[in-house]
Amino acid sequence: MGTMEGLEVTECERCPALVDCRSQIVNGTGPADADLLFVGEGPGAREDEQGEPFVGRSGSVLDDKLRDKGLSRADVRITNCVRCRPPENRDPTKEELDNCREYLEREIELVNPDVIVTLGKVPSEHLLDRDVAVTSEAGTIANAELGGEIRDVLICVHPAATLYDRSQESTFDTALEKAANMGGSSGGQSSLGEF
Ligand code: URA
Repeated sequence: MGTMEGLEVTECERCPALVDCRSQIVNGTGPADADLLFVGEGPGAREDEQGEPFVGRSGSVLDDKLRDKGLSRADVRITNCVRCRPPENRDPTKEELDNCREYLEREIELVNPDVIVTLGKVPSEHLLDRDVAVTSEAGTIANAELGGEIRDVLICVHPAATLYDRSQESTFDTALEKAANMGGSSGGQSSLGEF
């Protein structure tokens, strides 16, 4: 029940409620050897339609902020804790998160990023396996064993939070600035081409 070819989950029926709701499985996007790996919660309506993470409003916030830091979507890898859209955009359940964990672990192992950036409370708590006060902890680095290694996890607020609460914008900026600086040397290349 669940087939993965490299980074892509091609079929999976582990979560009955999500199988009912989804129109497709939404896999991660971006270079298979990216220095930065962003992890969101799960696909929303637009992502479910287009089959790509963060293509709705939160996605444009993320794209804008990446651009501010001299990066583009093509420079980074973006994925989610669960790959199928939960009904009414509810949070994924613990069981659904656990069901999809194997795919995320595999993606982390294969991409082997310099830093993993968690976008919001759900991915932060899922990857760090503890309660996280995202607003106060955003911009800090935690360590966790993921994809077979102890890795740096940069806690960040969800891009949508900056739309609802302007005060979270600077938190998001600070975290992304740090992520851009941590992301090794290959990160800026494709954006140089834009000038
Ligand atoms: N929010 C998420 O957490 N993930 C997406 O892919 C889109 C919006």
